[in-house]
Amino acid sequence: TAHTVSLLLRVLRSLTVFKTMPIEVPMSTNPLLETHALPPFAEIRAEHVEPAVETLLSESREAIDRLAEQAAATPPTWDTFAAPLEAVNDRLTKAWSPVSHLNGTMNSPEMREAYQACLGKLSDFGTWVGQHEGLFRGWQALKDGPAWKHLDAAQRRTVENALRDFRLAGVDLPADQKARYGEIQSRLSLLSNQFSNNVLDATQAWHKDIDSQETLAGVPESALDTLKATAEVKGVAGYRITLDFPSFFPVVSYADNRELRREVYTAFVTRASDEGPDAGKFDNAAIMEEILALRNEMAQLLGFATYADYSLTTKMAESPEQVLDFLNDLARRALPQAKEEFAELSAYAREELGLETLEPWDVAYASEKLREARHSISQEQLRPYFPAPQVIDGLFQVVERLYGVRFEEDTQAPRYHDDVRYFRLTENGQPIAGFYLDLYAREGKRGGAWMADCRVRRQTEQGLQLPVAFLTCNFTAPVNGRPALLTHDEVTTLFHEFGHGLHHMLTQQQIADISGINGVAWDAVELPSQFMENYCWEREGLDLLAKHVDSGEPLPAELLERLQAAKNFQSAMGMMRQIEFSLFDLRLHHELSAPSASDVQALLDEVREAVSVLPKVPFNRFQNSFGHVFAGGYAAGYYSYKWAEVLSADAWSAFEETGIFDPETGQRFRREILEQGGARDAADLFVAFRGREPSVEPLLRHSGIRAA
Ligand code: ZN
Repeated sequence: TAHTVSLLLRVLRSLTVFKTMPIEVPMSTNPLLETHALPPFAEIRAEHVEPAVETLLSESREAIDRLAEQAAATPPTWDTFAAPLEAVNDRLTKAWSPVSHLNGTMNSPEMREAYQACLGKLSDFGTWVGQHEGLFRGWQALKDGPAWKHLDAAQRRTVENALRDFRLAGVDLPADQKARYGEIQSRLSLLSNQFSNNVLDATQAWHKDIDSQETLAGVPESALDTLKATAEVKGVAGYRITLDFPSFFPVVSYADNRELRREVYTAFVTRASDEGPDAGKFDNAAIMEEILALRNEMAQLLGFATYADYSLTTKMAESPEQVLDFLNDLARRALPQAKEEFAELSAYAREELGLETLEPWDVAYASEKLREARHSISQEQLRPYFPAPQVIDGLFQVVERLYGVRFEEDTQAPRYHDDVRYFRLTENGQPIAGFYLDLYAREGKRGGAWMADCRVRRQTEQGLQLPVAFLTCNFTAPVNGRPALLTHDEVTTLFHEFGHGLHHMLTQQQIADISGINGVAWDAVELPSQFMENYCWEREGLDLLAKHVDSGEPLPAELLERLQAAKNFQSAMGMMRQIEFSLFDLRLHHELSAPSASDVQALLDEVREAVSVLPKVPFNRFQNSFGHVFAGGYAAGYYSYKWAEVLSADAWSAFEETGIFDPETGQRFRREILEQGGARDAADLFVAFRGREPSVEPLLRHSGIRAA
């Protein structure tokens, strides 16, 4: 599930590990330029955004140049260099975070325009900072100079991260290589964007119109409505299938018509390639080749053997070999069971569905039929047990019992919509953090669920700034004065995001760049979030969350058993699929330096041969639409999903040993993981909590995979 620290802020932060001297705030009526404990939502208008960002960027550039000059003249100290840089960054972050949040949750044409107008300016600023040699030399002087011996561990960590990030941005390369680095970066960002655009265009280029509902037999009512609405918008009669997920997915999962499934499946897995109905039209092959060659060249410019080595320098995993061992070990353990699951599916399909040989376009369909036969449980059945107010109350009780903190609502805090609530976290009567809870879908709100930071915990000249989080979900809003009834999936999503929120809010760090989730390795950041999901699957946790909306009854034992049993349906097959993607991604960036599209295909075929239990077809071009790796931040990092799951499952196993509400274990988790943020290596934090290195056994056990 997604948590989003605005990608841009993440980029800015990774490049601008800096802070400020108090800048004179010009007299102004722009609320984004004023200092507030919480954003003054009622006053913020779209027309404030661009002028505020321009003012802040120009003041930031001046302040950074000045600090770099001072550092060149006099050996810098924390207080003369690092602290003022942090303040510069924080002022920009505090102005931008409500803008970014309003753009995502209260979108309007004006806000969208203002937001987009600033993106280029912010990214130029990020590049300028990343290549700022004076700033880099200032950090280096702080490390090499007389002040270093006075810095504490957190400060030293921050300095070292800053130097690392500057080097990863090519700041200390000779001039010609630096120029080449810049060319590669800008070419790569262009290519990633083209890759996404091709996938999008290929997705939108294909559709199939269906006249009669009979052809769509088996497809659920809600999906039929979607297909019908799509046809109506396009002015055609009947139903229109597209390759958008809400359209494509129900058809391949439920349509009884095998030929229809084959056709839709084929269109989907050949998008942006040399195969399928639009063969050659949006082909990403040449773009993939160029991206891979440039990534390899960039890694080598920076002194790394391969792009995978480069990617792992900022992650918890130590080397590509370690990740490969990890994935191969998981594969070895899960493969036998995945084969059994597939054999069971094939037998079921043959005997019950008359499908003699299971083809790729039959797998999702037969699986849904088997799931219904084995575990008849639907999300709809569970809804009445999860009224939103009860779930929120239960969530707070879980956190109170674990960590001894309290929740209180502040109805006077400035909010941006009537549905939004603001809560404070207190401990021993003192406020320690706050968060906005924005649960329901509405027009102008981006889909999905995420946690973002509004204020980061840091020491300022005026005292301690407390952390504040935005927690955003998109649940179905309450109607007719009845409380919203959540599905179990939605409850789990809320807990997941709240786990990110606790990581942000319970931090004890006082330097912005290592506070909360800042500075936490990409492959460890899902530990606190996935950890929290466990409370939604255990009787003791569910008893706090689940009460029937009418009767107040807890979740019946029989329903809980079915819920738990269905959790691990085909879990080994699912795990092998993730391992396949992860191995392909890592080996692609480690073993091949400038591969051709057919080399890429050959590697994927080899990985599939080793770890996939699913039927294969030669025209599948999955790689041509693998946006995580070619257009997102997951290059040589897709394994992070499984890696973090090992950590969260193993952390949970400590609670299984002592009781899931054991306060001593809770305090240890809080102290060693949640409070530490990016202050120490994630691997060290895990050992400090668990008393040993992570083990994959708990993940296998929780996934219902028998020891092999
Ligand atoms: Zn997450």
